[in-house]
Amino acid sequence: MKTPIYLDYNATTPVHSEVLEAMLPYFSNKFANAASKSHTFGLSADKVVENARKQIATSINAVAQEIVFTSGSTEAINLAIKGVAEKYKSKGNHIITVKTEHKAVLDTCKYLEENNYRVIYLNVDENGLINLDDLKKELNDETILVCVMLANNETGVIQPMKEIAEIVHKNNSILMSDATQAIGKTNVDVQELGIDLMCLSAHKFYGPKGSGALYIRRKNPRVSLSPQIHGGGHENSLRSGTLNIPAIVGLGKAIELSAVITEWQQSKTKKLRDYLESTLLKEVEEIKIIGASTERLPNTSNIQFPIKSNTLIKKMMDVAVSTGSACTSAKPEPSHVLLSMGLSKEEADKCIRFSLGIKTTKEELDYTIEKIKKIITENSVLS
Ligand code: PLP
Repeated sequence: MKTPIYLDYNATTPVHSEVLEAMLPYFSNKFANAASKSHTFGLSADKVVENARKQIATSINAVAQEIVFTSGSTEAINLAIKGVAEKYKSKGNHIITVKTEHKAVLDTCKYLEENNYRVIYLNVDENGLINLDDLKKELNDETILVCVMLANNETGVIQPMKEIAEIVHKNNSILMSDATQAIGKTNVDVQELGIDLMCLSAHKFYGPKGSGALYIRRKNPRVSLSPQIHGGGHENSLRSGTLNIPAIVGLGKAIELSAVITEWQQSKTKKLRDYLESTLLKEVEEIKIIGASTERLPNTSNIQFPIKSNTLIKKMMDVAVSTGSACTSAKPEPSHVLLSMGLSKEEADKCIRFSLGIKTTKEELDYTIEKIKKIITENSVLS
């Protein structure tokens, strides 16, 4: 077994060998610009882009015209939220989201609040779930958009999206969902779930970084957006800028593979995740699994330990884990997700997120478990 061990797959994943292989020709031989429609080089590049668009659409049960390429989920979220806010301004200025959303959603909403939009941040219960009655109460004629993530990046908790969609649509509002962590770990079908806008990001499911997409529903209801990046009119004028073809090819291939990867995660990875949790629960005192009694992603485990997470992490430098989302782990603040779930600051400071992937082995977990046990024992002797 090689160290260091990587247990931070929710932060990012390695590019799958088949994805890399598919991408490579597009850095050199097949270098054309997909917007150069006056020659065969450009036309071939355009074909490749359209193929990737179909691969994404097929995977989430959409149609190709409903997919817009972006640089990842943060950009897709900005386009979705600001795009709806601007487009539907005459209908209303009210947006509903949830306290446990990713910062990409929360900070975009904060920005809109500074620009005369009203945003409601729903509470969650101790399992990280929203209360559907709270949602019903907050909806009104002015509500243009509701943003609820499909699966949480820190806890893996999955929201009841079908029920949420029914409520949102009854009010004639638009439902946007951040599915960044869901693809490749659970089946995502926009028709079944009733999602109108959905972001995804290739680097979370064994594709390249800086490549993602936004799904925009065209029928029942047809959703329109105001573009946020202006220029050459690419992507149906919704997102101008020369397309990053290798990254798009990689995204297409990665999402094609995601069906097989999801199956693997739901069987093999889940078994390993459950093994990690049950062994720690058995062998270490005062351990709590966050969100354990509700539906979660098969690879994610957020665990509260009897000692500070920073102490644990510093002493196990050869095991890569995290205390929150990758985007905020540079800031030493307790997780807003855990605080929203009712943990005290002190409890939240003791939590670590383990996120497993398709390369994770039982041997790696045994090593991690032994290391944790040793650090906690040493710590209790010292204190
Ligand atoms: N939303 C969630 C739930 C995430 O986990 C992340 C990444 O950590 C993002 C959004 C941002 O994605 P990207 O890195 O593609 O901008």
